[in-house]
Amino acid sequence: MDALYVLLFFIYGIVFGSFFNVVGLRVPKKESIISPPSHCTVCDRKLGMLDLIPVFSYLFLRGKCRNCGVKISPIYPTVEFVTGLLFALSFYKIGFQAELIVALVFSSLLVIITVSDIAYMLIPNKVLLPFWIVLFILRWISPLSPWWDSLLGAVVGFGLLLFIGIVSKGGMGGGDIKLFFVIGLVLGTVQTLLTLVLAALIGSVVGVIMLRKTGKGRKTPIPFGPSIAVAAVITYFWGMKIVDWYGTLFF
Ligand SMILES: [Zn+2]
Repeated sequence: MDALYVLLFFIYGIVFGSFFNVVGLRVPKKESIISPPSHCTVCDRKLGMLDLIPVFSYLFLRGKCRNCGVKISPIYPTVEFVTGLLFALSFYKIGFQAELIVALVFSSLLVIITVSDIAYMLIPNKVLLPFWIVLFILRWISPLSPWWDSLLGAVVGFGLLLFIGIVSKGGMGGGDIKLFFVIGLVLGTVQTLLTLVLAALIGSVVGVIMLRKTGKGRKTPIPFGPSIAVAAVITYFWGMKIVDWYGTLFF
């Protein structure tokens, strides 16, 4: 495995990650993702070339705006760094195959919906729809085996989440339900079910931590999207290993 390529994909990842911050924060507010250019949300200072270097600019500036000194949210560099890791991991695990594009596109979707769900408790259709179309085509080029497992996974994922949504009377957001359609398409039936189980586990751990930290009641809504995203990444890269391991416990 060529370490140089892994590094290159990491760099692509942090650059794309800084764009995903913009997409995830602006699309739900129906703002343009091109203009105005990135600026400090407090003093409106436009960010220069140096400020736009992902991750590193945050470290150089010690997390503060160069002009007004307001603290920059650590979410930005975290998203950039995580996207870098995901892109590097995608190449490391898959190499130069058609599936690599699926991995990169799928990671991108998960990063963007995590940003928008944390910021606004919303997974916008404007993000889901284009990714759905692209991933649908990509699953044609790099199909699961058997190929129809994509379609079955999408139907099962969507149907199951819809059912949970109805039974729990709105405990599941519409965005989460639609997201599972895309997850099913990419992962197939078994791994989609695994994603749901993992997401529920991660979600309840996050819920307990949030409850302790904020002291807020159980009724405070917590976005589920980020837990789904983490679960989907784990499943995409290590799902078969988990399924096999689980199988050996019983057979
Ligand atoms: Zn500022």
